[in-house]
Amino acid sequence: MTAILSARGLTVRYPGARRPAVENVSFDLSVGSTLAVVGESGSGKSTIALAISRLLDPAVEIRADLLTFEGRDLLTMDRAGLRRLRARRIAMVFQSPFGSWNPTRTIGAQLTDGLRAAGIWPSGRDRLLTLLRRVGIHEPADRLRDYPHQFSGGMLQRAMIAGALVARPSLLIADEPTSALDTTVQAEILDILDELRDEHQLALMLISHDLGVVARVASSTLVLYGGRLVESGPTTALYRNAGHPYTRALLAAAPRLDGPRKVRLPALAPGPVVDHGCAFAPRCPQAESRCAETTPGLRPVSGLNVACHLAETPRST
Ligand code: SF4
Ligand code: MG
Repeated sequence: MTAILSARGLTVRYPGARRPAVENVSFDLSVGSTLAVVGESGSGKSTIALAISRLLDPAVEIRADLLTFEGRDLLTMDRAGLRRLRARRIAMVFQSPFGSWNPTRTIGAQLTDGLRAAGIWPSGRDRLLTLLRRVGIHEPADRLRDYPHQFSGGMLQRAMIAGALVARPSLLIADEPTSALDTTVQAEILDILDELRDEHQLALMLISHDLGVVARVASSTLVLYGGRLVESGPTTALYRNAGHPYTRALLAAAPRLDGPRKVRLPALAPGPVVDHGCAFAPRCPQAESRCAETTPGLRPVSGLNVACHLAETPRST
């Protein structure tokens, strides 16, 4: 499948920051697939989303050897082009259902804003109602007159997903779309995203701090630590064979949607920023002296790409 979104060596640095928030990250995403971007808060995952949609302040430095969407260079695109792209081709769903809605305006008024921005008001109204029904909002024409406080968190996320898809985007970026919701609702929302991806021929980027959540729907996964890619590859291989100690810690600590977590590890506390060597070294149970000196590069190991000095394909001798 051809990638509609490609990044090579994506690096993002906030003004005055000592280290880039995102450093040398590469990935491809195709229509019909889901790419999960996983890491703790501060790992750079939301920054990747904001860099793709070019929603970062112009003072933020974005560099890449390649950053393209539907064959067009996102780095050189002018503001008008980016605005059109965000209104029509790239849709985003954010974490907090309540924070994303203005409490003083009706759901309908706010969804209409999106249709206007995409240039499809009033022609898109029927499609919006169909999508609202599709995501499980009954009597949508009536519910559009409601205010956000009259919706549950899950319903607000459903409405946001419907609103995100009305302009027929090809890329949907969902940044922690379920983390404010309880477990049952989380699973329902993820299933909806998964189904809509196929029905609407979408590429889905799913950002989460929780590997257990993304495993349900993501075909491939990027694991970020301290702004760097520490492991990437097919999600099933990652589950079976994670090569990076950080991925293994995340897996062991991940709550499962299908039952209680198997291992309960103490929560990982954010580590100090390091200037040399492996960013995970201050927290890594397997760290050796070379880890603090040399930065491990990504290497292919057992069907995954792993940035760890110790990750090796098992030798036959
Ligand atoms: Fe741990 Fe060293 Fe591997 Fe980093 S390179 S994850 S510190 S073993
Ligand atoms: Mg975030």
